[in-house]
Amino acid sequence: MEEKYDIAVVGGGPAGLSAAMTAAQKGAKVILLEKDEAIAHSVRTSGVSWISEMEKLGITKQFYNPISNFQFISPSNDVFISGETPRSCVLDVKGTYQHLAMLAAGAGAKLMVKSNVINIKSDSGRITGIKASTPAGDLTVNCTLVIDASGFSSTVARKAGLANEWKRYGVGAEYECYCDSADSQTWMLMVGRRYSEAGYAWVFPLSKNRVRIGVGIGRPESQADPLEKLHFVLEKRLKPLDVLGKIQPLELHYGFIPNEGLRQATVSDGLILVGDSAGQANPLVLEGIRYAIEFGRVAGEVGAKSIAANASKDSLLEYEKAWKSRIASKIASAVKVQSRWIGLSDQDWDKEIEILRNMTVDEFLDFIKADFSAAKMMKLALHHPGLAARQLFNMVLK
Ligand SMILES: Cc1cc2nc3c(=O)[nH]c(=O)nc-3n(C[C@H](O)[C@H](O)[C@H](O)COP(=O)(O)OP(=O)(O)OC[C@H]3O[C@@H](n4cnc5c(N)ncnc54)[C@H](O)[C@@H]3O)c2cc1C
Repeated sequence: MEEKYDIAVVGGGPAGLSAAMTAAQKGAKVILLEKDEAIAHSVRTSGVSWISEMEKLGITKQFYNPISNFQFISPSNDVFISGETPRSCVLDVKGTYQHLAMLAAGAGAKLMVKSNVINIKSDSGRITGIKASTPAGDLTVNCTLVIDASGFSSTVARKAGLANEWKRYGVGAEYECYCDSADSQTWMLMVGRRYSEAGYAWVFPLSKNRVRIGVGIGRPESQADPLEKLHFVLEKRLKPLDVLGKIQPLELHYGFIPNEGLRQATVSDGLILVGDSAGQANPLVLEGIRYAIEFGRVAGEVGAKSIAANASKDSLLEYEKAWKSRIASKIASAVKVQSRWIGLSDQDWDKEIEILRNMTVDEFLDFIKADFSAAKMMKLALHHPGLAARQLFNMVLK
C-alpha cells in the first residue's frame, strides 16, 4: 500500500497526538502511526504534573488526582511541604492520552494503531516518507513532513542521521497498586542508595486506595535494574510503604527518559523532533508530559504552515526557536542540579533535603518544576540567607 499525506506523525504519545490534532486543525492532511495495539497500551510514565499547566492545556480535573503536599524521605531525614490548595496532580495517564487521541481524530487526523514505523524514505538526503508494518499490511507513506514523536527511541531522527542514541538517561519501573490506605493528597519522593543508587523512588497516589510505586535509576552512573530495586523496596516495606497496609500490584509500567538535556538540532528539511525525541523533559523529576503536549501543538501548527514552503528547514526553525526560548535555559539548570543529585551519598542526602525544608510551596514548586529564572533564584537566596539556600543558588546559576 502507498498513501500520500502532508504530514506523517510517528508515535501516539502526548507529543504525537497533540501535533496531529493541531496540524489537522490547521488544515493539513495528517496520518499518525502508533506501534502499540492501543493508545496508552503500555504506560511508560508516572503521570505527575501541575494543575495550572494542565488547565492551560485543556486537561480538566476528571483526568487527575489533585495533590497539595510533598514529602521527601532520605535515609535519616524527612521533609514535608504542605500546601493549602492543590497545585500538583497525578494523571490518569490512559484516560488523558485517549482523550488526546479523540481530539486528534475529531480534528480529522487518521490514526493507525499496531503500526510500527520501521524505515524512512529519503531522496538526496531529504526525508520524503516512512515505511510501516500495519494490521492492514505494509504501508508506505509519502509526505512533505515527518514529525518524529517516537519518544526516547527517536526512531526517525536516528534513521535520518539527525540524532544519536541518548548517552545519559533514566530508566524506571513502577507498579500501579491497590493499597489499604494512602494519603491521596501527598506525593512522596524517596532518595538514598537503599531506594536507588543513582536516582530515587516514589509513591504517587491516584486515590486513597490506588498508588504508583516506582524506582528510577540514572545511566550510566548505575547499571542496576530498577525492577529488582523496586521488588526490594516492596519486599522490605521501606518507608513510607510501611504505612500503606496491604499492597497489591495491578499494572507494571516501565520506561526510559532522556536525561542529558536538549537535542541541539530538532528540525531539518522535512523533519521535526518533538517531546522526548527532542529531549524536552525536566530531568529533576523526570517530567515531560506537559512539554510534550505544549510543543506537540507548536510542532503541529508550524508543521501545517510549512507545507506551503515544502517543509524546508528554514520554514520549521520557528518551532525550534519557540520551544528553546521557553525551556532551554530551565532544562540546562535542571541538568546541573540533577548531575549533583545523582552522585550524593546517603549522608549527603540527609543534608541536601534540608534545602527544601524552609521553602514555601511556591518556592518549592518553582524549584521542582525547574522554573529557575535569575530573578526567582535571587529572591530565594534573599529570603533564605542560610547556607542551604545559598548552595542551591550557586548550584543553579553558576
Ligand atoms: C519511569 C518514568 C517516569 C516518568 N514520570 C513522569 C511524570 O511523573 N510526569 C511527567 O510529566 N513525565 C514523566 N515521565 C516522562 C514522560 O513520560 C515523557 O516525557 C512523555 O511521555 C513524552 O511524551 P512523548 O509523546 O514524547 O513520548 P512517549 O510518551 O514515549 O510516546 C512515544 C510513542 O511513540 C511510539 N513509538 C515509538 N517508536 C515507534 C515506531 N517506530 N513506530 C510507531 N510508534 C512508535 C511509542 O509506542 C509511544 O506510544 C516519566 C518517564 C519515565 C520513563
